[in-house]
Amino acid sequence: MKLYILNTGYLETNFGEKNQLPVLAFLIETEQGPILFDTGSNPEAMNGYWPSNYRGMFPLFQMKEERLEEQLKLCGVRPEDIHTVVLSHMHLDHSGNIALFPHADVYVPKEDYDFAVMNVNSSPDPTKHGPYIKAEIEAEVKQYHFIEKDFELVPGVEVITLPGHTPGLLGMVVHLEKGTVIMPQDSIYTKVIYGPPARPSALMYDKGKYFASIEKVRELESRYQADVIFSHDKDHFKTIKKAPEYYE
Ligand SMILES: [Zn+2]
Repeated sequence: MKLYILNTGYLETNFGEKNQLPVLAFLIETEQGPILFDTGSNPEAMNGYWPSNYRGMFPLFQMKEERLEEQLKLCGVRPEDIHTVVLSHMHLDHSGNIALFPHADVYVPKEDYDFAVMNVNSSPDPTKHGPYIKAEIEAEVKQYHFIEKDFELVPGVEVITLPGHTPGLLGMVVHLEKGTVIMPQDSIYTKVIYGPPARPSALMYDKGKYFASIEKVRELESRYQADVIFSHDKDHFKTIKKAPEYYE
């Protein structure tokens, strides 16, 4: 099994101090075929695809070679080769390229999917949809799988529920030959948030679940002596291997 970390550009936070938030997706090559975990941001985000409030708050910087298809190309894979996609949650920097996978089984956290459907249908004004894009929530795929419990997707690849940042959120635990890697995505998006002690973050839908999810990851980390990959941490980003390099 191989784990590739895909660099899909970064978001800049424009309130207070400027900060860069890298946006990661993951490709896991398994004997059962490639699995994509998250899809990064849509390349048209800043050309009006994202609503103006998000373009202002979190402008996306994405070079051509950081587009999802280009990152997959580095791994020798095309979108049409991928029949299994897991979305950690439905935010626009994670589900941005779901439209490339109309042929795929797509696993989503049920509670965040429900919340996103409500958000994108509650107003005709996209600036009122929160960080959800209607076209992404309504993307046609082969089949959605609405996840509420931890499960093993294929041998060695576990999907775990880590709610709190959003009403539902999926992380992944991958047991590679040389060790276990945990990808909690936005449930723990920087090393500082992880602590210990765990720290609050700017986006907590449910504070109790948010902190419980962080401790769930800590327990798994110690059980498997695992490495944890933080989803939006620019210092941590410098220390990890990026595609075409991989973990095995
Ligand atoms: Zn998020």
